[in-house]
Amino acid sequence: MILPKIREIKEALGSLFSAPITTPFPAVPFEAEKNYRGIPRYNAEHCIGCGTCAQVCPSTAITITDDLKKKIRTLTVDLTSCMNCGQCEEKCITEKGIQLSNEHSLFYADRKEPQLYERLERELILCEICNKPIACLDHLQWVKNRLGAKAYAHPNFLLLVQAKSSTIEPSSPKERLRREDQIKWVCASCRQQIVTIDEF
Ligand code: SF4
Ligand code: SF4
Repeated sequence: MILPKIREIKEALGSLFSAPITTPFPAVPFEAEKNYRGIPRYNAEHCIGCGTCAQVCPSTAITITDDLKKKIRTLTVDLTSCMNCGQCEEKCITEKGIQLSNEHSLFYADRKEPQLYERLERELILCEICNKPIACLDHLQWVKNRLGAKAYAHPNFLLLVQAKSSTIEPSSPKERLRREDQIKWVCASCRQQIVTIDEF
């Protein structure tokens, strides 16, 4: 029983003359290891605003807000709710839209501090008939590129290609949906109505 006590006294005396094991943070900035799972950051070059990260986030730290007037989708990560699990990074469909940095410091007195929220805005495309969101412009572009030539089979993707080479004047609203409405930004539900009316 005496031997452990001697060992402890020896360690205590030894620590008086050795350098501290802990870091003097925050007096001295602390840099985390390269693979440390820290604060998630959006990458504006690679995020297409699809919203997958919000769906997979287990702590519902990511929210999506669509401003229909400004046609802007805002993705927000509430860093006070994030538990740095890395699901958003792992399931991101572009693989680089959001990544966990090795930043770790979140010391703020007020939870409303803007630094506690990671935000990114993307341009939103709305249905020209019902005004509901179809998807972000970058998301449509990403799908079109993956489809290659097959994208020409869908009017929304056709419009993406056409918009690059010409300006399309918006047509005035008609009494009812017509076949010509196919060549507009139209959501799946309204497109189904146009096809049904056209067929029958
Ligand atoms: S591209 Fe990635 S980061 Fe951007 S919304 Fe989709 S899943 Fe989230
Ligand atoms: S790291 Fe995990 S908890 Fe944090 S935002 Fe991403 S999915 Fe949500």
